[in-house]
Amino acid sequence: MMQQHERLLKVLVIGDLGVGKTSVIKRYVHQVFSQHYRATIGVDFALKVLNWDHKTVVRLQLWDIAGQERYGNMTRVYYREAVGALVVFDMTRLSTFQAVLKWKGDLDSKVALSNGRSVPVVLLANKCDQRRHGLCPKLPKLENFSREYGFVGWYETSAKDNTNIDAAITCLVKNIMSME
Ligand code: GDP
Ligand code: MG
Repeated sequence: MMQQHERLLKVLVIGDLGVGKTSVIKRYVHQVFSQHYRATIGVDFALKVLNWDHKTVVRLQLWDIAGQERYGNMTRVYYREAVGALVVFDMTRLSTFQAVLKWKGDLDSKVALSNGRSVPVVLLANKCDQRRHGLCPKLPKLENFSREYGFVGWYETSAKDNTNIDAAITCLVKNIMSME
């Protein structure tokens, strides 16, 4: 019989309050969406098991934060042993985009891969379903922005409509798995 091996990946989901972090996780792991997620207090995580390839099972641990977003940074304990992150902002609120680099900076200052490189990060421009109600007019071109600041990818996502959630997380896991 073929020997399969398991990899446990700790992935952080960070970004300002209300951008949709919990919604993205619930959509990805449980295929649900709700207007009302109670702000869980503290740190919560969800697990998704992926049959990555014929010899690898990935146990993807998605770490949610709640409450602490308002401080704009997290403790080293939270970041410890993370191998990747999703930085989420809300396309309808410019201030949440302006916080993206603060979140990435906090991450990069507190965790790195064992080879010293920064952990791969994918940028999620969430709530793209709100387009017809008007998105933030001052958003820059995300392609250039994400390249310039070292994100491994970016996606316009909607946890509500299930747009690009799988694609974004798959992109991140691919990058993590290719880092060894
Ligand atoms: P968090 O504080 O970052 O965890 O954000 P939540 O996941 O709690 O979401 C905050 C609010 O935005 C909730 O009312 C969600 O229903 C809503 N929300 C989250 N994602 C989306 C989305 O993709 N589209 C829309 N229209 N609303 C969303
Ligand atoms: Mg939340």
